[in-house]
This record gives sequence, structure tokens and C-alpha cells, in this order.
Amino acid sequence: MPLLPPIVLTIGGSDPTAGAGVQGDLRTIGQLGGYGVCAITSVTVQDTCGLTARQDVEAELLAAQLAALAGDLPIATVKAGMLGSTANVEAVARFLDGHPKLPFCLDPVLAATAGGPLLDPEGTEALVAELLPRATLVTPNLPEATFLAGHPATEPRTAEALARDLRDRGAAAVLITGGHRPGGEVVDLLLDDDTVHRLPTPRLAVAAHGTGCALTAAIATRLAFGDPLLTAVEAARDHLLFRLRSALHLGHGQRLLP
Ligand code: PLP
Repeated sequence: MPLLPPIVLTIGGSDPTAGAGVQGDLRTIGQLGGYGVCAITSVTVQDTCGLTARQDVEAELLAAQLAALAGDLPIATVKAGMLGSTANVEAVARFLDGHPKLPFCLDPVLAATAGGPLLDPEGTEALVAELLPRATLVTPNLPEATFLAGHPATEPRTAEALARDLRDRGAAAVLITGGHRPGGEVVDLLLDDDTVHRLPTPRLAVAAHGTGCALTAAIATRLAFGDPLLTAVEAARDHLLFRLRSALHLGHGQRLLP
């Protein structure tokens, strides 16, 4: 029998630049040796300078994509990113209800770095109520964590307190990425099994489009290979750092990950 790659399902928006969204995820999954399959939640119009339009797919069409894939392929892990609408959040929750053993990594995408909402406010509430309790891991940045935990942005809380808040809301483990905090070092915080891991890396001068997508897709891929969570997170961070060091200035705006 040939050795088959583990299958990672990514659920998210289409990004025509292939830097973020499902196109970016499929490249990340493939680079790490997995086989990526995807279900599209929304079609966006964007270039490296920003996002100008989007149309979310009907939730029935999303549910049909998920059912077709799961009926045919032995999916090892699931990653979700941009979901677009409340109905799509609910479609993902129903899909996960039918596959309760599948490890599920949730990147709570609320808005694009270059501007533009990627989930409506009711969708965010549904995400907290329906997807956090089903998440093996949730990977917000600091502003997203603050928002999801229901704190005003003006009321600073530590990453550890926010991680515990999100765990109280049902996520099994929480990774808060520290790129939005000032300082020469980026410190990501992983809360896993009541253990807090602080994971520092030097801050690079480069930023790139789709780094959050890439990190979570890489974690889902390493989990599909059977890594324990901390090992998967460390491998994913190393992979992202390696790609960030050679991020490509191909268009007129943000750099793209190779
Ligand atoms: N487009 C899609 C489809 C995404 O999923 C995301 C982020 O997850 C973005 C755009 C925004 O990417 P970034 O904020 O890294 O530029």
C-alpha cells in the first residue's frame, strides 16, 4: 500500500490572490505534506491592496460541499476561517455535529487586515455560541480574542486572561497570537490542558497577507499527522516564520507568502 497523505479539510472564503483563504490554505497544507480539500463559504474580490466585494454562498450549498467531501474522503482534521454569514456558521456547526471526533481548528476571521468585514455581527455571536464549544483549538489574535470574549477594546486584559475566557466559552485549547502587541518580540500564548505555554519569536520587519490563515492551516495539517497540540503549534510557527522571511512583493500592496 502506498503511504497516503492525511486529508485536511479547509472551510473558508475564496481569495483570488491565493495568499489567504482556501487557496492559501491548500498551499500551506500541501507544503507540509498533507492533501488539502476545501469547501467555499464566500467568494471575495480582492488583490494585494485590499478587498472590494464579497458574496457569501448559500448555506445549503456550503452544507452540500461538506457532505460530498465527508461522504467520499477520509478527512483527518478540519480548519475553518472566513465564514461570511450566520447561516454558514450554523452549517459548519451542523456538519461538526455529524462528525464529533474530527479535530477542528477555528481561525475566527472577523475582518481583513486591509479593511472590510468578513463576518457579520450576528455571525460572530453564532460563532461564539456554536463553534467555540466544538473547537479543538481556536486561534484569535489579541483584538479578536478581546472581541470574542466580550470585552471592550479599551479595557486591556492579558492574553492569559483572554485565553481562559475563551476556554470558559467552550474551546478546548486557545492560541492567542501576539503579533498585534508592540515590542521587539512576538509572544504567542497557548492554553492547553490548563497549561500556559509562552512561545516567543523575534519580530520580523515584514508583514504578509494571510499569515493567520497559514498558521491555523499548518497546525491542522500537523495535527492530521498525529502531532500533539504543542508540537503542532511549534512546527506551524516555524513553517510560517520560514515563509515570512521570503514573503514575495508580487503586487502593489501586501506581500504574499511563498
Ligand atoms: N480573505 C479571506 C478569504 C480570508 O480568509 C482572510 C483571512 O483569514 C483574508 C482575506 C484576510 O487576510 P489578511 O487579514 O491576512 O490580509
